[in-house]
Amino acid sequence: MNNIKYYYKKKLCNICKKNKLDIFINKDKNYICNKCYNKEYNKKNNINNYINLNKLNPELIKKEIDKYIIGHNKTKKQISVSIYNHFKLINYNKNSKYINLYKPNILLIGPTGSGKTLIAKTISNILDIPMVITDATTLTQAGYVGDDVENILLRLIQKCNYDIKKAEYGIIYIDEIDKIAKKTKNISITRDVSGEGVQQALLKIIEGTISSIPIYGGRKHPQQQNIQINTNNILFICGGTFNNINNIIKKRLNINKIGFNLKNKQIKEKNNIEYKDIIKFGFIPEFIGRFSIISKLEKLKKIHFIKILTKPKNSIIKYYKKLFKLENINLIFKKSAIKKIANISIKMNTGARSLKYVIEKILFNTMYNIKLIKQKEIIIDKNFIKNQNL
Ligand code: ADP
Repeated sequence: MNNIKYYYKKKLCNICKKNKLDIFINKDKNYICNKCYNKEYNKKNNINNYINLNKLNPELIKKEIDKYIIGHNKTKKQISVSIYNHFKLINYNKNSKYINLYKPNILLIGPTGSGKTLIAKTISNILDIPMVITDATTLTQAGYVGDDVENILLRLIQKCNYDIKKAEYGIIYIDEIDKIAKKTKNISITRDVSGEGVQQALLKIIEGTISSIPIYGGRKHPQQQNIQINTNNILFICGGTFNNINNIIKKRLNINKIGFNLKNKQIKEKNNIEYKDIIKFGFIPEFIGRFSIISKLEKLKKIHFIKILTKPKNSIIKYYKKLFKLENINLIFKKSAIKKIANISIKMNTGARSLKYVIEKILFNTMYNIKLIKQKEIIIDKNFIKNQNL
């Protein structure tokens, strides 16, 4: 008798083999208990189990992203839909010579510390896709001193232990992309002079090409072997602060609507960056045309800072609580302390990045003397913070 029937006859759950039967699962007389059903159900709703994408949907991706990223609702929705479509198509066309002409490369525009890099990391983690992070300011055209654009591909290949197939479905995150804008007369921000050359070099790999990569990188070893990688399905996510972009938008709106003067706040609310704004900023149209999502992340407010401290699955406070728990000490953060930390951090003007810095400073002395602490509980409140003389 097969196992399922045996446990069915015995009226026992065929997963835990202990509890009474409760729920009918499928045609094959697969009965299990409530407890196991809930466990299985929760597992099913975890994206990692659906990486074959058969049961994945944009809403599920968004829910996973929500566990790590606070705020930026619209961006998270846009990304979830695009990522879903992208990987669904790839999956569907796995065995054909499919060329993804419309891959949803993503451009994230937002202040420093607003979560651009974290969004890219989160996508890579929840979909279990390899990712490398690079900085546009270090990139140069091939032949110039600096990091060849192709070197990013090499790093992705290395991350995948030279499994080229895996690398061909990876993600490349390029930070500070705004720094490779070319110089124009109208706007004055610090720019890489070779900006346009780097854009041209990046364009090739972003739009999809077969790149030949020197296996050791660089060009110092002319005899070295090359490896080929097809970049058609590699997803590019670029991030940048794009200082002054609001001035460009403002100018466009004023010109379009004579006599209609929009204030900065209204522009923010409209959130309407257009391709032509980015071109005006200093990007070549072919480059920017390769991004199907251009999303603006707003500056995080105090309420976001408070949530970032406590809500994400791997939040900063959860991290320190765990650290102290390993020493058998309960670390308790009072609401007043959380608000204070958010207040101190917001003044630093480096976005949510400063939260970790501030908490590290608050807990530094305690951590230094950790082995001298006899209490089983440490309460962090407003007074505790005051006493640290930050
Ligand atoms: P950016 O790339 O926009 O400069 P990061 O993604 O590097 O910013 O953010 C720095 C850190 O700040 C993150 O590692 C995370 O701890 C925190 N953080 C920033 N924004 C968010 C957010 N929206 N949700 C959760 N954590 C955030």
